[in-house]
Amino acid sequence: MIQTIGVIGAGQMGNGIAHVVAASGFQVKMLDVSEAAIAKGLATITRNLDRQVAKGRLSEEDKAATLGRITTGTDYTLFSDCDLVVEAASENESVKRQIFAQLCPVLKADAIIASNTSSISITRLGASTDRPAKFMGIHFMNPVPLMKLVELIRGIATGEDTFATVKDFVARLNKTSVSAEDFPAFIVNRILLPMINEAVYTLYEGVGSVDSIDNAMKLGANHPMGPLELADFIGLDTCLAIMHVLHDGLADTKYRPCPLLVKYVEAGWLGRKTGRGFYDYSGEKPVPTR
Ligand code: NAD
Repeated sequence: MIQTIGVIGAGQMGNGIAHVVAASGFQVKMLDVSEAAIAKGLATITRNLDRQVAKGRLSEEDKAATLGRITTGTDYTLFSDCDLVVEAASENESVKRQIFAQLCPVLKADAIIASNTSSISITRLGASTDRPAKFMGIHFMNPVPLMKLVELIRGIATGEDTFATVKDFVARLNKTSVSAEDFPAFIVNRILLPMINEAVYTLYEGVGSVDSIDNAMKLGANHPMGPLELADFIGLDTCLAIMHVLHDGLADTKYRPCPLLVKYVEAGWLGRKTGRGFYDYSGEKPVPTR
């Protein structure tokens, strides 16, 4: 029975996961490397809850109760009573391995560990812990409070009881889960990122401008956001990293990253988070750069 959940990382995904889990009535323990990172994560959660209150979707009491269920810290002993710990730290395998090395010794023997990784092998991460049968992937989508889907990924050693327990937990968050095998980028990113990469090729080859490409896919394929707008939202460095994972992991040239995407990342034009990507975000409205 899952009651207390640990979240490692208070960044974009970690704070979203803590928000949704606490709002569903669970106790949450959230850890990051510094008090400053934790404060930033808590401020984001508060801002997102305030927005729901302003829209009349949440009462002040429920907001306070949600925040009251989140405890934070920088020491791993925080997780000693957790039934499940979701790792949502930076997408770097050695960082994640170091985290599991610190986490495993303080955990209850029957606690489950999950990683929110977008691209690292769940089997390999699980093998680096003391409990591969109690390890799996829980891949939330960004922004966590708004997106309905969660991908559940079994490593080769993941136990059926672990999978069933986590599936039940995710349903209690009012999310819909799909099950994916442990292959590079799972389902959503396996399909989405090659489409974004192809949109960048379309721009690179001069088939269309940023505006034409995004409008074409919004109005012609009924996508809520154009692929280049979406790339800026995800972060161009993240898009490139996922294309590398597909290219390396599946050894197929159809996944080769577009040279223009590489160039943008080299320039530090990473999308919304740096103020410039395929659009310039310095003014009131995003302006296409090509
Ligand atoms: P982020 O950079 O916003 O946050 C990462 C957080 O991890 C930061 O607060 C950082 O201080 C913290 N951190 C780094 N090293 C740590 C350590 N040793 N111990 C504890 N905390 C540490 O990144 P994010 O976008 O939230 O991504 C987190 C994970 O979620 C990654 O594995 C990523 O692949 C995955 N993910 C991201 C998205 C997305 O759209 N951003 C979507 C799904 C999954």
